[in-house]
Amino acid sequence: MKINLLDKFYGCLLGVAIGDTLGHPFEGKIRSQIFSYFKNFGVFLDSNSDLFRTYTDDTQLTLHLAKALIKGNGFNLDYIIREFVNWLDDPPIGPGYGCISSIQKLKYGIPWEQAASNSGGNGTVMRIAPVGLFYCKDPKALQTAAIKTSIITHSHSAASAGAIVIASAIAYLIDKNPETGFSVDEFFNVIINSISNSQDEIWEEFIEILYKLKSNLDMPLESGLIKFSQAGVKSPYFIEQYLGQAFVHPYTISTVVCTIFIFLKNLTSFSDCILELATAGGDSDTVGAIGGSLAGVYFGVENIPPNLIKLLKNKKKILKISEELYRVFEKRFLTGVI
Ligand SMILES: [Mg+2]
Repeated sequence: MKINLLDKFYGCLLGVAIGDTLGHPFEGKIRSQIFSYFKNFGVFLDSNSDLFRTYTDDTQLTLHLAKALIKGNGFNLDYIIREFVNWLDDPPIGPGYGCISSIQKLKYGIPWEQAASNSGGNGTVMRIAPVGLFYCKDPKALQTAAIKTSIITHSHSAASAGAIVIASAIAYLIDKNPETGFSVDEFFNVIINSISNSQDEIWEEFIEILYKLKSNLDMPLESGLIKFSQAGVKSPYFIEQYLGQAFVHPYTISTVVCTIFIFLKNLTSFSDCILELATAGGDSDTVGAIGGSLAGVYFGVENIPPNLIKLLKNKKKILKISEELYRVFEKRFLTGVI
């Protein structure tokens, strides 16, 4: 099978929106609570699709970031700030504190160095997919762009690291064929190497947790989620009441690690993967969005069931932005190469 990169771009951004849409109604719920409503999410979804009406801030900001990359032919700080400010008029759906507080300041012309919150929340990694797509052929530029798009709103180093890890995972998966699979060892090498050139303590801790995840991949899904739901979370943000529960914390490291865990345990089909991601528990919409970008880029649009695309709001707009992003990528990285 020849890889069609445009199909992978479509799959990735549709994956963000589908995961976000399916996870949204479960945001803030413990996984066991979600599965008290039904045994099989796929069956439930077939007869209750009208409960899944909208995506949230994760998809909104992903689309704005994609538009900024299209207009700027890659990273351009002014375009990105302008697009993030435009998001305030969407208006934002279910925004996190780190994003909304900093972007409101950017709107009033406060320089990003002062506007950024010190949040280590998952608000930057949830929107990073377009950077992974656009810079998939240039790991160095990918790392720089992932950091720069993060620190505008989140100065915490966990946020930058998470953005690099997920963008690098997308870049790795874009030329993998789901019929033949990929090496999980190689996948971990790529994402761990992507953040190994720093002495930052948080980045080092993130790497340790990724190694721990790699050696625990055999754990059953529920037990693994219980183990990693609050990975790396420090006091006073650790939530005592969710200890021993599958409830993914919105801290970047715990969100990214749980998302990768679910993704790697569900490589059978896009459907299997997205249904597990969206019911992770805790920050379900963001786990759905980030994991949806991984599943979407790996499986490509041709392996996304039409019923999942059908329930999406603004699907034409998402497809159009995906194609425009692909065209600028093609022009910059492929013209003259093939
Ligand atoms: Mg959200």
